[in-house]
Amino acid sequence: MIKITIYGFPVFDSVVIEISGACNANCRWCITGRTPMLERSQFFMTPDLFSKIIKRISNEKMILPRSTLALYSWGEPVLNPHLSDLCEIAGQYHFKVGISTNASRYVELSECALRNIGYVHFSVSGMTQETYGRIHGFDVISVLKNIQQWCKTFDRMKIKAPRTMVFHVYKFNHTDISEARAFCSANSIDFFPYYAYFNDWERSLAYLEQSLPTDIKEQATQELELFYVKDHIAQAPQNYRCPQFNNLVIDETGQLLTCCVVPRGHPNYSLGHFLDMSLPEILEAKRSQQCCIKCLNLGAAWWVNDVMPYKNIHEE
Ligand code: SF4
Ligand code: SF4
Repeated sequence: MIKITIYGFPVFDSVVIEISGACNANCRWCITGRTPMLERSQFFMTPDLFSKIIKRISNEKMILPRSTLALYSWGEPVLNPHLSDLCEIAGQYHFKVGISTNASRYVELSECALRNIGYVHFSVSGMTQETYGRIHGFDVISVLKNIQQWCKTFDRMKIKAPRTMVFHVYKFNHTDISEARAFCSANSIDFFPYYAYFNDWERSLAYLEQSLPTDIKEQATQELELFYVKDHIAQAPQNYRCPQFNNLVIDETGQLLTCCVVPRGHPNYSLGHFLDMSLPEILEAKRSQQCCIKCLNLGAAWWVNDVMPYKNIHEE
């Protein structure tokens, strides 16, 4: 049930707007990364559509005023050529924006856009070409330079938005963690290492059902730290309620989605166009998707919504 909290209007806990369906990386444990480049979405959200969506969210008080809207889900937001415009539009409605980037590119944003950034995450999978190149595949030196460029820009403009390196811990990159932490410390970046997993809902379900194809299972066993999963899922509260029910998730074409994880092509991916649905229709659709039953029963909902920080398990 969506919470009813202010002014008698339903309020979502968070809003996720995918502004770029495209991503330029090939991370193999990610549903986007393992999809052939030409089969991925090539769409970017336009300022016009973004403006209509934000206006509606604001007018209908779907989220608390001055919230930070996440402008990413399964794509690389920095690839959107209108990124400055989108950040500025969000600011016109007194929202901040959050960005998560693979830092393969540094883009110049307008001052107004930069001042509307509420946080930025840098997604990193290693500190050497051997480790980083194995997942993201870009030139790691260039990526680290781009991250530093973001930091310099923020510092020059005295932008206090938190910046965080989300470090994906694999079996083969534990030795990079100290260096990554030192890099973050030197650049005033928060460091968040977590155990990389299937960034891929269908593979998560298959793993839990023990129905992954043998070759994928072997590769996962070699690369992913999955030792904690069984115990972790056993700790899921009874009657666990998926937090995604309280999230408003919209893709780059304006489709309202079940959540951040059900992939494109799945019958429950889209619930309809956000601008064509009444609020009661949105609420009803959000809580009545067939796919949620299996996801909750298997514990996938608990797993995918509650990533496992490295520090909670491992002492370096
Ligand atoms: S993990 Fe991020 S950077 Fe890698 S393919 Fe997926 S969306 Fe792109
Ligand atoms: S239960 Fe699973 S499929 Fe349903 S909203 Fe939550 S994460 Fe998505």
